[in-house]
Amino acid sequence: ASSFLSVTDLYVHFATEDGTVKAVDGLSFDLERGSTLGIVGESGSGKSVTNLAVLGLHNPRNTTIRGEIVLDGQELTGASERQLNRLRGKKMAMIFQDSLAALSPFYTVGRQIAEPFMKHTGASRREARARAVDMLRKVGIPQPELRVDDYPHQFSGGMRQRAMIAMALVCDPDLVIADEPTTALDVTVQAQILDLLKSLQQETGAAIIIITHDLGVIAKTADQVMVMYAGRCVERGTVKEVMHHPQHPYSWGLLSSVPRLDSSVEIPLVPIPGAPPSLLAPPPGCPFHPRCGFSDRVPGGACHTVRPELPDAQQRGSACHLTETQKESVFTEQIRPR
Ligand code: SF4
Ligand code: MG
Repeated sequence: ASSFLSVTDLYVHFATEDGTVKAVDGLSFDLERGSTLGIVGESGSGKSVTNLAVLGLHNPRNTTIRGEIVLDGQELTGASERQLNRLRGKKMAMIFQDSLAALSPFYTVGRQIAEPFMKHTGASRREARARAVDMLRKVGIPQPELRVDDYPHQFSGGMRQRAMIAMALVCDPDLVIADEPTTALDVTVQAQILDLLKSLQQETGAAIIIITHDLGVIAKTADQVMVMYAGRCVERGTVKEVMHHPQHPYSWGLLSSVPRLDSSVEIPLVPIPGAPPSLLAPPPGCPFHPRCGFSDRVPGGACHTVRPELPDAQQRGSACHLTETQKESVFTEQIRPR
């Protein structure tokens, strides 16, 4: 229990006019310094919400959070807005998909990188500007001492993404959460940005959570993987275990095109027939059962009535009633040889 980031039994529920949306419904995971956790799943699986909860970026008026989020020994779930503000930027930072939305069009790129640095370190304007130039250099912007005075629209999409990374990393955060960080970029730029993130991680020892629907991104960056479905983790393990030897029928669907680990092309998830369940009224039993082709192998109709749990206290496992032998034989006989 001395992990750098430890999330235990996290529930994030939203009150809506139609009822309670169980966006995250009992999630636990650990993350060590210097390592990368990839979270994969369809949209609406709870992967973004989980991370907004870690950052404390939810609307407290309609959101109920239960469970424990501990970052470097500090409990975040009960933390005040003021405490969280102090942590954001300095201890944890977020990289978004859309750099145009994250960067203000009205301020120079340099100012937007310098500002959080001044706020968190008390540096002077001059020091912060020098730091901004340094950061732009670090993320590979040519002529950073000139470009520091540019506005975001004067940067290309790839450069803006780099600038956003510079802004996120300016205070040397220990935890970086990247939500679809390369989705809007072309494949070559994507690969460069991911390489950049990895090398910055090696330099600073930051822990990274990367949220993506792109299995190529997972293969290229992650050490551990969590597959999420309907607000829960249905399978976890190392990147090799999950991508090359998946155990859960949902993962079998998603991973039907497993990329080579050195692949740099985009490999989207394979669409699975049917839609993710409503999180207002998730199906009883296994939330995946309406879409699962294997529930008839589980005796007693348990898939329809009993919620499968992820085995505790181990990194490798899947939440599915099939026996280990069944998982193994279905995967090797039916799934792999396609
Ligand atoms: Fe399919 Fe049943 Fe496993 Fe759920 S528990 S994934 S319905 S076999
Ligand atoms: Mg999302």
